[in-house]
Amino acid sequence: MYPLSRGALMPSKYTELSLLEFQREFSTEEACADHFRKIRWPDGFKCPKCGSGEAWFIRTRNILDCKGCRAKVSLTAGTVFHKTRTPLIKWYWLIYHMAMDKVGVSIAEMQRLLEIRDYKTAWMMAHKVRKAMADRDAQYSLAGLVELDDSFFGPKGTTRGRGSERKTTVLCAVSLYRDRYGEEKPGFAHMQVVDDASAETIEVFLERLGCGVTTQQGKQLLQAIRSDGWRSYGRVAANKGLLHYKVVLRDPKAAGKLLPWVHRVISNTKAVIRGTHRGVSEKHLQSYLSEVCYRFNRRFWEKELFDRLLQATISAETITYAELTKPEKCL
Ligand SMILES: [Zn+2]
Repeated sequence: MYPLSRGALMPSKYTELSLLEFQREFSTEEACADHFRKIRWPDGFKCPKCGSGEAWFIRTRNILDCKGCRAKVSLTAGTVFHKTRTPLIKWYWLIYHMAMDKVGVSIAEMQRLLEIRDYKTAWMMAHKVRKAMADRDAQYSLAGLVELDDSFFGPKGTTRGRGSERKTTVLCAVSLYRDRYGEEKPGFAHMQVVDDASAETIEVFLERLGCGVTTQQGKQLLQAIRSDGWRSYGRVAANKGLLHYKVVLRDPKAAGKLLPWVHRVISNTKAVIRGTHRGVSEKHLQSYLSEVCYRFNRRFWEKELFDRLLQATISAETITYAELTKPEKCL
């Protein structure tokens, strides 16, 4: 039930960049705009109105002026940067840091480093990048054997379900594969804020991750789960026709050994949230979880991370401040 490899080791279409190369290549606003234009229209600009391939580029406004029909096409329309007033170079550096820094970046730090005037702008920019990360990560399925567990996130000392500062339930799944030495290794990870750890909730979570999807050979993509044996997991396995490996937890502290990968992902995430972000509200927790998973799932492509994340922001739809602050639990 293990996939033979991570299944993602296909030839890469992404560019590798070291820090020095990044610094050299993206040192001016013009360089960033030219690069952005190439990424957006890899086969050359094509006017959406008349199909003409020729346009003037108005640098001061990042607008292409079609020579055929004089339509004005914004460089950033339809991307995460839509209607931004922040120079692209600042976006590039923010994306670089968010992609590369293993523990995430603090918004106050980015605001200072990138000379962004107000905190809200920097906060909003980071959330837009996180949205692109979440959108991209949602396309990943889990295959083979998956380690599963639930955990509580929230302020220290608070109890679950009590008062306004209650803890939030988070489901975590990590797919496993065997490397060529036969050792168990983590593949992809997913975390999701949920209302409870009931069998129904876990089923919806697994379905979103590809449970029930079959390969061309008619084999189930996701075949087995490993859990602490909590009854919800048993019911899910029975309902979904999955093999179920239960590890017996006589001592809760042994969970780190018996379900090592979900526990590592969960504890790293808590460290990032406490350390870098100084805690986050329940409402925004999901986007921080998605950010951690996004980086974890791409940890083998370190030098490509900037290019991958930039491409994700170009293909993702933007999110507005109103959408981000509306009173809902998760994005
Ligand atoms: Zn045109």
